Amino acid sequence: MTPAPSSTDSKGMTAAPAHTAPMLRRMRNYWIATAMLYLATMGLLAAQVGAGYTPRGPALLLSVVAACGTLAFYALIHFSARLKIAPDMLAALQSLFAIGCIIAGYAIAGPLRASLLSMLVVAIAFCTFAMHPRRALLLAGAALAGMAGIMWYLQAIDPQGHPPAVEAMSFGYLAAALLATTLLASEMTKLRRRMKVSKQELLAALDTIRTLATVDELTSLANRRHMNELLGAEERRSAPATSCVALLDLDLFKQVNDQYGHAVGDAVLRGFAGAAHGALREHDTLARWGGEEFLLLLPDATPQAARQVLERIVTRVHALQIDGMTPARRISFSAGLAERRDGEPFTDAISRADKALYRAKAAGRDRIEVA
Ligand code: GH3
Ligand code: MG
Ligand code: MG
Repeated sequence: MTPAPSSTDSKGMTAAPAHTAPMLRRMRNYWIATAMLYLATMGLLAAQVGAGYTPRGPALLLSVVAACGTLAFYALIHFSARLKIAPDMLAALQSLFAIGCIIAGYAIAGPLRASLLSMLVVAIAFCTFAMHPRRALLLAGAALAGMAGIMWYLQAIDPQGHPPAVEAMSFGYLAAALLATTLLASEMTKLRRRMKVSKQELLAALDTIRTLATVDELTSLANRRHMNELLGAEERRSAPATSCVALLDLDLFKQVNDQYGHAVGDAVLRGFAGAAHGALREHDTLARWGGEEFLLLLPDATPQAARQVLERIVTRVHALQIDGMTPARRISFSAGLAERRDGEPFTDAISRADKALYRAKAAGRDRIEVA
């Protein structure tokens, strides 16, 4: 009786989700719940037969049909991907089948038939839960039409057993219950839609926070905070190979700002970041350490390998052309490179790199000094 779940998009429309493994698992779980419900109702039907309320033949026929249908739906779920049956279509078919069984059950339930109406409400409640309200409303309409037909037929052939007034009033109660159920469900859909939008907004906000916490806004490189996290992680990693760090500082950058303006200075910082980033090895990280100073982390790198990376950066940075600057004005940087000694904190290696950088500046800039 339980329809398979389907997904609802931001506009509340039911999409036909792909037959993913979790979706199939959910459909199978729903099927198990459905099969158990069918088993329970078949048990009750047998009890009705035993008590003499329901004729044996029709009850047996209905039980066989219900059992075959349930097994057939198991196969349909299993092969739904290959048969290209969308999960929500399968849900609608299962619901229709359940509604048919309940209507047939009503026809043969005798004095217990009013109880079957509650099962119909349960079936429609499941529909409204699992599919778009419009489709659930359609199924509720189909259920009502089916019930109207069977009630009219029963009172026509057996007015004694099925007094027309009783059937008509029962139908009224059923219509009210189904209408209320579908209305409540549409409210629930709106709620789900709002929750989905809130969830998306929260995820977007989380994404922004994560970016703000790790990325430098101007250069899009890692920021200092993120680099400190990476250094901590690198310290905890017991790597057999040595790592290197390098401090890179743009040469006479104040002059760039003074001569061309702050906006051009910003463009130089962005250009430097892009050029340097393109020269890194896969696991190297370049972070903006402050102003026009950058820290390069080179995990598992010998000083020779680290120097090669820095020289690649030098070549790229020398070739930089920045809009707004005279082409003859070359961008350069000085760098201090240090190898991290066995298990020492990175702050010690960075401090040696800083001293090496100072020497590079003192020696005339545009050069790499190794600590
Ligand atoms: P040196 O070769 O000795 O490093 O000289 P320098 O001029 O590069 O160094 P100094 O420390 O004197 O000046 C650094 C300048 O970098 C000063 C500061 O205004 C500028 N700066 C820092 N952050 C930014 C920024 O985000 N954008 C721009 N445009 N300039 C910045
Ligand atoms: Mg500088
Ligand atoms: Mg500086």
